Amino acid sequence: MTSDESNLVSFPRKRESSLKPVPRFGVAGNPPNFKKSADRGESTRAPHWLAAIGLDAYEYEAVHGVTMTDERARTLGEAARAHGIVLSVHAPYYTNLASLDPGTVANSIRHLRQSVYLAAMMGARVVVLHPGWHKGHTTPATALDRCLDTLSTALVEIEETDGEVLIAPETCGLKAQVGSLDEILVLCALHPRLVPCLDFAHIHARANGRPFDDAAFDDVFSRVERTLGREKLERAHIHYYPVEYADRGERCHHAFNEPEFGPRPEPFIAALHRWNLAPTVICESRDKQDVDALLMKRLYGGKGEKGKQKGE
Ligand SMILES: [Zn+2]
Repeated sequence: MTSDESNLVSFPRKRESSLKPVPRFGVAGNPPNFKKSADRGESTRAPHWLAAIGLDAYEYEAVHGVTMTDERARTLGEAARAHGIVLSVHAPYYTNLASLDPGTVANSIRHLRQSVYLAAMMGARVVVLHPGWHKGHTTPATALDRCLDTLSTALVEIEETDGEVLIAPETCGLKAQVGSLDEILVLCALHPRLVPCLDFAHIHARANGRPFDDAAFDDVFSRVERTLGREKLERAHIHYYPVEYADRGERCHHAFNEPEFGPRPEPFIAALHRWNLAPTVICESRDKQDVDALLMKRLYGGKGEKGKQKGE
């Protein structure tokens, strides 16, 4: 018996925590309650405010262009680490990786590169990306091919910026956008650093409001797992809130206190338990991102370890 083994007998090794990881819940951008608070909606103070109300995640919205300075990004990152808040960055809306115009493609790559750089500056684990539009293509398939080409080029450039930050192409709400679940899965298979951003409201809107019941969640999670593997399913980033839709897809965001709009929180939380998933869940409920994120966190309940995620 080696001395190590005898130590094991006399002093049992500290057991791994038996608590299971739990999801992080947080907000996209700066909700009205944050703007009214003593922190006055100042983005670098978001971690302080979120921790005080009991949330764990913040998605910084660079949706109108990356304008945050390096210094402010570092300040936000330090605050997030001090308050135990997981950060993500939403890249600008102007990206269209499917464009046939070389100038638009170059600008899209620049927006993505700047977003990844910003994420690295603040220590965010993921950048959320809208892939682009079908417009100008004869079929959605050629738009998707074009996205794949642009994304390959972008990944080579971005590798030099920061190889740690994940990029999450998002399921998008309009049928004219590249962003069905199938399209997102094809994109995410391209490279190890690509993981899906599952925006369930967008999936719901694209499917003309097909209800998200247990079977629908199982369908989404099993398709992700089958196509990309368990690890990418576990790293998937999630957006969750109710939505109003029309024929063309998403119309506008709503909040859980409006029972006529789906998807609803209860079956989602049940699916997280059933699939043993602990993702970051960002709530985009209209003007109630914080209220509805807290509602989901309460529904999830239980005690556990905060999800160990890349970058922690
Ligand atoms: Zn988005």
